[in-house]
Amino acid sequence: MQDYNYVYGNCLEITLELSCCKYPQASELHKEWDLNKESLLAYIEKVHIGVRGYVKDHVSGSALTNASIVVAGIRHNLTTGRYGDYYRLLLPGVYNITAVATGYTPVTVNNVQVFDGNATELNLVLVPVAIEPNLAGNVTLTTPSTPSATDINRYTSNTNTAPSHRSQVVTSMGSKTTPIPSPTEPQPVQPQEFRHHNYADMELFLRKYSSEFPSIAHLYSIGRSVEGRELYGMVISDNPTVHEHGEAEFKYVGNMHGNEVVGREILLNLIEYLCLNYGTDREVTELVNNTRIHIMPSMNPDGYEVANEGDVRGYRGRNNSKNFDLNRNFPDQFATIKDPRQPETIAMMNWLKSNPFVLSANLHGGSLVVNYPFDDDREGKTRYSKSPDDKVFQQLARTYSQENPLMHNGHPCVKLYPGEYFADGITNGASWYNVAGGMQDWNYLNTNCFEVTIELGCVKYPLAKDLPKYWEQNRRSLLQFIHQVHHGIKGTVSDIRDGMGIPNATIQVADIDHNITTAHTGDYWRLLVPGTYSITASAHGYQPVRTYATVSKNGVEVVDFRLTRLHSDPNGLSPSGPQPTHNPSEEEFESLIKDLSLGQGLEQLVKSTDTENSFRFRGYKELSAFLRGLTLNFPKITSLQSLGHSVEFRTIWALEISNNPGEAEPSEPKVRFVAGIHGNAPVGTELLLEFAALLCINYGKNSVITRLINETTIVIVPSINPDGREQAVEKQCTSTQGFTNTHGKDLDKDFFGNVSHRVVEPQPETKAMMDMILDKGYTLSVALDGGSLVATYPYDKPVQSVENEGTLKYLASVYSNNHPKMHLGNAGCSNNGQASNIPDGVMRAAERQSHMGSMKDFSMDFGHCPEITVYTGCCVFPPSEQLTTLWAENKKPLLSMLLEVHKGLRGVVRDKSGKPIIGAIIVLNGGVRVFSGEGGYFRALLAPGNHNIEAVADGYQQQRQEVVVSSYEAASSIIIEFDMDHSIFGLPREFVVASAAASMTALVVTACIIWCVCVAKSNRQKDGFHRLRQHRDEYDDEIRLTSMGSKKSLLAHEFQDESESDEETLYANKI
Ligand SMILES: [Zn+2]
Repeated sequence: MQDYNYVYGNCLEITLELSCCKYPQASELHKEWDLNKESLLAYIEKVHIGVRGYVKDHVSGSALTNASIVVAGIRHNLTTGRYGDYYRLLLPGVYNITAVATGYTPVTVNNVQVFDGNATELNLVLVPVAIEPNLAGNVTLTTPSTPSATDINRYTSNTNTAPSHRSQVVTSMGSKTTPIPSPTEPQPVQPQEFRHHNYADMELFLRKYSSEFPSIAHLYSIGRSVEGRELYGMVISDNPTVHEHGEAEFKYVGNMHGNEVVGREILLNLIEYLCLNYGTDREVTELVNNTRIHIMPSMNPDGYEVANEGDVRGYRGRNNSKNFDLNRNFPDQFATIKDPRQPETIAMMNWLKSNPFVLSANLHGGSLVVNYPFDDDREGKTRYSKSPDDKVFQQLARTYSQENPLMHNGHPCVKLYPGEYFADGITNGASWYNVAGGMQDWNYLNTNCFEVTIELGCVKYPLAKDLPKYWEQNRRSLLQFIHQVHHGIKGTVSDIRDGMGIPNATIQVADIDHNITTAHTGDYWRLLVPGTYSITASAHGYQPVRTYATVSKNGVEVVDFRLTRLHSDPNGLSPSGPQPTHNPSEEEFESLIKDLSLGQGLEQLVKSTDTENSFRFRGYKELSAFLRGLTLNFPKITSLQSLGHSVEFRTIWALEISNNPGEAEPSEPKVRFVAGIHGNAPVGTELLLEFAALLCINYGKNSVITRLINETTIVIVPSINPDGREQAVEKQCTSTQGFTNTHGKDLDKDFFGNVSHRVVEPQPETKAMMDMILDKGYTLSVALDGGSLVATYPYDKPVQSVENEGTLKYLASVYSNNHPKMHLGNAGCSNNGQASNIPDGVMRAAERQSHMGSMKDFSMDFGHCPEITVYTGCCVFPPSEQLTTLWAENKKPLLSMLLEVHKGLRGVVRDKSGKPIIGAIIVLNGGVRVFSGEGGYFRALLAPGNHNIEAVADGYQQQRQEVVVSSYEAASSIIIEFDMDHSIFGLPREFVVASAAASMTALVVTACIIWCVCVAKSNRQKDGFHRLRQHRDEYDDEIRLTSMGSKKSLLAHEFQDESESDEETLYANKI
């Protein structure tokens, strides 16, 4: 076999005899391993010795496969592989190496040095024989060492047939030797394809380069145009499919105005140029290796298709196919953009938000100038509107204009606009003309990316014959501008303790009012002009660090920050401190939560849990069958219960998904997903059914889902108002048919926890939900509704201020930020006249539609559980074909809420002897209270940041500490230990007394406020501080007694399988 390997393959094989005994005793194996381990590894390392590299075609840049690699003096040739790659194992020494391929002039490189250790890289470029004379003038090959055709013939025939002539060959090569030890480095190859590319041609072009250069070119789409054309992006980089830590991301966007086509064509030229010259041209290779370059040739492919060649200053094709100018369609810092946001714009906004872009240019036509932010000002006047980074933008703009032989003169289009002059060929956007809704300002204000707008020429759609001229004028500028991404400062912000990068940390430069944030692994880039700067890095829960950095004219200054956690508690009992309750399984789960919260973690979970269901709207009967089907198929993790019945006696189902369904697990978070309170909006119902199926089907198959179910109690109520749902009509986007229950009541105005507000008995549906909500222990509730695209947080009732508003808002924003459209804040639905610019797609419920008696408010006030309401779309009952899209949009946000319940704060309250204390009050930031339950466990969601918590329990000294909550880390358990002897956490007595006095004051004040509120609400007086808890229970009892005819135990109606119908069996088979 070894001879066969050597003679017929490119592989050098040796045969190893490992031991005298062919089949030794098992007990000997360990010894054999020890004897051979080092040798096996050392042998693998040898694959890297010698010479390696690529052989390419000089004209097309494509790989030459099956080319021979000839080493002078060794009668054994190798051939190149599929990518033109070869690996020639050689001992240290100096060699003359020749590449030979049919139809090409061979190339020899002499005196190639091979060292001990890693292979020398040698890339060879061959010129086709037929066209060599034409190229000879402008191509620098190692001509002196290139053997003539005769030489090569002789040479190859020698090596093939005359082993004894080895010395002769060496002599013959040696006589031609010139001392060029470096690989061949020809001039870069220029693009060949100069013509206009319509959508189909462009697509073909992009596919061709991504398939021919898979190691550096990756084609993807960021979404679709109005007419369904893909908005293509091409990444050119080594490892193109991933963001590499520390590697800056750059983008070029062309053809935003469909009739401005020069950008589109020169970006295609640029793709060609980068691909063809990678590996042979030093500048290109370095740029591609060290930058992730995204190129989007056309942002408006629909407009392009209707534009006309030869158009000088026209408008046909400028706008998208709905006739909106995309460069007036982005949210603006000064003006309100009333036009509906276009699919192209939304796709761009999502793209820009989801990649850590640093620098960008948007290529236009119709003038010849670089235009930089801002594009408008508060008054809409045409005058200079400076951004905080004006100097940086000027430098960036000049870099481009100076390399363009015409642009820097500053007289763009003498024939069209004779008086126009731009010094250095650059201009501030607003000082040229004031424009609101532009893309470059949005980039700067909403992402870490600096964008300028470049006008490439006076003619918007030039004739094809002029295209080479545009490439020639812009090719240096295009490259120089990319180089700019490597200026200023960059680095990593990490945790000093474990070295982990800190995402979303802030980089602040003194005197420049524009902060940059770190990417997922803590890496950042801050473009700056030369100078010395004071730079501060800060992050939630960390001590900020400030340093000075000097930025030089060339290159980038690396400034890394290592931040220390804030520990206000000297005993380290904050969540970051050493945890006595930690065990490996818990730590593993915490790292799972962190992995899911950072980078592409959640995205990957979404992708790995495809259910491939076909969607349809299900009425009550089908819904019940679906839920039964789940419990039949997954009995170990599901339990179906009836919460009660509707007016028309339909069951209001609650499906629990847990590893111990039906059992209380007080240490676990409990999350509730509910939908269908308004029967006319059944999208939420279908989403929750699919969500339940996803969880069940992936249990035991997907390790992440399995772990999440094991660690969480999930309760799903898909339809609160089943009677209304039966009345609703599909494809009725604005109909209110089915909105109420059978008695005509809007159930979301029927949740009153207080008798004084109760005029009549609650509706049976309301009653069922109230009982569930009062069954404490829920950490979070997510309610799904329709008719808008926004997430709202408590309260619905008009209140002046909301305790813990930061946390509630944060929870709503977690949902909306994981939704591809909601976070854009473009909730404007034509059917309800709502505001269309809602920051982050999140608002306080009362701002949307204030009302009393809502489920959300009841959950807050009486269930002690935050509830957010998610409106999944403008159309309340869309056609069923839209369900697939709606599911795709909401799957990630729903999963994100499942992660979210594991964050925040958790712990256990006990006394010195370790006995759990039930009913201790944990006061968050002097306001919101949570209570320790069974086992002394408590849990509270909190926005990222620092929080003060105080613990109070009857008969014990109260306690206070500060905790740090992160957006991506699981809550670690804190232990609150009460001690009768008043020495707390081993703190000095004075401190205890002082802090106790402070918190007592706060609590007394809080208690007084609550007391006053209660007096006002119920006319029943409660007194004293220790009776807070008691007070709460009386409320509960009040509810139960007044809202139910007879007192029932909660969630008591265990589902019983009453039938064995065919329908069920069929369903069971289907899952
Ligand atoms: Zn334009």
